[in-house]
Amino acid sequence: MDLNLKKHYEDLLFLPLGGANEIGMNLNLYHLNGKWLMVDCGMGFAYDIPGVDMMTADISFIKAHRKDLLAIVLTHIHEDHLGAVQYLWRELEVPVYATQFAANFLRTKLDEFKLAPQVPIRIIDSSKELNIGPFTLDFIGLTHSVPEMQALMLKTTKGNILHTGDWKFDPDPVVGEVSQKDKIRAYGDKNEVLAVICDSTNALSEGHSRSEGELYDSLKALIAGRTGLVGVTTFASNLARIHTIAKIARDVGRKVVLAGFSLHRLHEVGKKSGYFNDNFEFISDREMKFYDKKEILVIATGCQGEPNAAARKIATDNHPTIRFTKGDLMIFSSKIIPGNEKKIFELFDEMAKKQIDVMTEKDHFVHVSGHPSQDELRELYALSRPQIAIPVHGEFIHTKTHCELAKECGIPRVIQIENGSVIKFNKDDIHATSLIGKVKSGYLGVDGKQLLDLNGEVIRERKKLQFGGIVTVSFAVNSSLAILSKIRITCVGSYDLKNDRQAEDMIKKEIQIFVKNKTRELNLDSGFGLRFLKKKKKSKKLNEDKVLGEVEKALRSKLLKIFEDLMGKRPALEININLVN
Ligand SMILES: [Zn+2]
Ligand SMILES: [Zn+2]
Repeated sequence: MDLNLKKHYEDLLFLPLGGANEIGMNLNLYHLNGKWLMVDCGMGFAYDIPGVDMMTADISFIKAHRKDLLAIVLTHIHEDHLGAVQYLWRELEVPVYATQFAANFLRTKLDEFKLAPQVPIRIIDSSKELNIGPFTLDFIGLTHSVPEMQALMLKTTKGNILHTGDWKFDPDPVVGEVSQKDKIRAYGDKNEVLAVICDSTNALSEGHSRSEGELYDSLKALIAGRTGLVGVTTFASNLARIHTIAKIARDVGRKVVLAGFSLHRLHEVGKKSGYFNDNFEFISDREMKFYDKKEILVIATGCQGEPNAAARKIATDNHPTIRFTKGDLMIFSSKIIPGNEKKIFELFDEMAKKQIDVMTEKDHFVHVSGHPSQDELRELYALSRPQIAIPVHGEFIHTKTHCELAKECGIPRVIQIENGSVIKFNKDDIHATSLIGKVKSGYLGVDGKQLLDLNGEVIRERKKLQFGGIVTVSFAVNSSLAILSKIRITCVGSYDLKNDRQAEDMIKKEIQIFVKNKTRELNLDSGFGLRFLKKKKKSKKLNEDKVLGEVEKALRSKLLKIFEDLMGKRPALEININLVN
């Protein structure tokens, strides 16, 4: 179902390239009068791909239409909403709109990629409407685990769309604003909302999300009275939680030590943007030695068991300055994200071995979500009264459940969407709002400094290496294909040839016999060699490279069979036959 854009020049379209099939990697496009607007440009976690931990959405579609892309608007600082800007911006080169806090945060990330001077960042004044081409943006502040989360009311001649971003209704968010329900209600009361594109992360959770304020009491009760070192690990981007913990530390007489690069970055950007100013006492890890254990609270990165993060270093005594011992406490103030269980439980185990007390969301009230549960979704629909609901920010099960909930709420048109789906809105006939095409969507893996197609050659080869290692065979021949050098066989991660001389000799002998037979077969032992072939059969464009290529190909299947017999599976194989004149 290809998209004929010319036919839809004047249409209001919605096209998610990421985030509609997963929690992560949000990248949404809106279209009107031939122009596009991108909302968010985020990253996602990659699993089971060697060397690749993060990925972005494949943006080839919008890259091809970049002259019509007006801007990127960021809803908030989370990696799944702005984490791909530093990788993808060069392909698009458009202005980026963000609140002051998100802009400060983004700049530190762009700095690392030496991109900060190039990217035009425009600061959002959320008290005013903003015109970008055919779109007028009205910003609606919603509570989330970070401050300054901006939902967008995209006002257009073809109808208004509420793009929620990540949100919850929390009367006591600890940091940041309480959700601006009145602003949403004002649109709803006038029936001015055509569609809501909404967060589905917790669509499976009944009831109402718990408040960050309630968590303050619970965490404080767990920490107060402890006499040893207390650590709390959480997402380094969860500014609200870090604020909550710093407040508890202040109130129980402990100083805060931050452990982990991304926490220091958030703290710095937060301070610069006006947060963390409530008489909190942060000290460096090097200053810890001047204080008693009961005077310190460590906030550490690595709540998902990440191998290089601070929590892991602390658990394995690899942190340069922070030592936890028997009777100290580590609280995992975070969700155990599906897919990360193995790494997280390994970390629990490391801590248990050291007799460190561990508390997690499984056994104590130590975490609240920044996303809406079912009652909050119901409330949002009641306030906004949209004609159309399109759930995003979830896996299939989340968006499906969210669709059912929206239907129960009486939304006339509910659409479950996938990455790459193009929805055309029709405000005069709601039921004509539907899928009009699919464009290319997919994932790009962040591999060091390069972005790799996850279905491409490099990843395929890398998976193969991971599966069976590699064997390299090299030797030199003359133009009569006589072997002139030693045959070198190197096995990396494949077969232990060093300790199997017999196999090594056998393989070398097989290669010699094979090459000799080939020489005879090609009649190369007549004295004229490969060059003779070249001259004689010029018309067939037969040349040395081609003959050597064919020899290599035949040798490859022979050697793969030999290694399959030895290993029970096929390694990757590299053959270098060097022609010496
Ligand atoms: Zn978020
Ligand atoms: Zn998100």
